[in-house]
Amino acid sequence: MLTVSPLQLQSLKTHGEQTYNQECCGLLIGHSAFEDGIWKRTVQTIKPTPNVWHQQTDIPNIERFSTSRRYSIAPEDVLRAQKVARIQGCDIIGVYHSHPDHAAVPSDCDRQWAWPQYSYIILSVQQGIARDIRSWVLDEQGQFQPETLVVDGIDASHSL
Ligand SMILES: [Zn+2]
Repeated sequence: MLTVSPLQLQSLKTHGEQTYNQECCGLLIGHSAFEDGIWKRTVQTIKPTPNVWHQQTDIPNIERFSTSRRYSIAPEDVLRAQKVARIQGCDIIGVYHSHPDHAAVPSDCDRQWAWPQYSYIILSVQQGIARDIRSWVLDEQGQFQPETLVVDGIDASHSL
């Protein structure tokens, strides 16, 4: 279960629409707790980051798509966000990115690069307009499962 505020939801939509038709990406900073058998995460801050996929030169055996199909967050951006989060008593709890003209469903590449302890928000931006948002988490088999995305106390998956 991942909770974001209405304002944070709006800033995710805006980021995805402004960067269309490239994938946008960023970090979710906040708190997480394991309660009643599930991870409950609450976003405190949305941290947009540049998509540096096209700068990657050390990725073997993967076809190099453009940033309209792939995203990557620079390690230095992650470290910087981690430091700021620690000062605020928070942690990086997830990653978000957009899928221009594709569904809000993880790709094989998304799964390959995913970490088990993170929530993954995917925003579907169709023709420049944010149309769908979903959150995903890896299960013990390393497969993505949908995660309840809560905004204002209600399930906001598919709410756009
Ligand atoms: Zn993706």
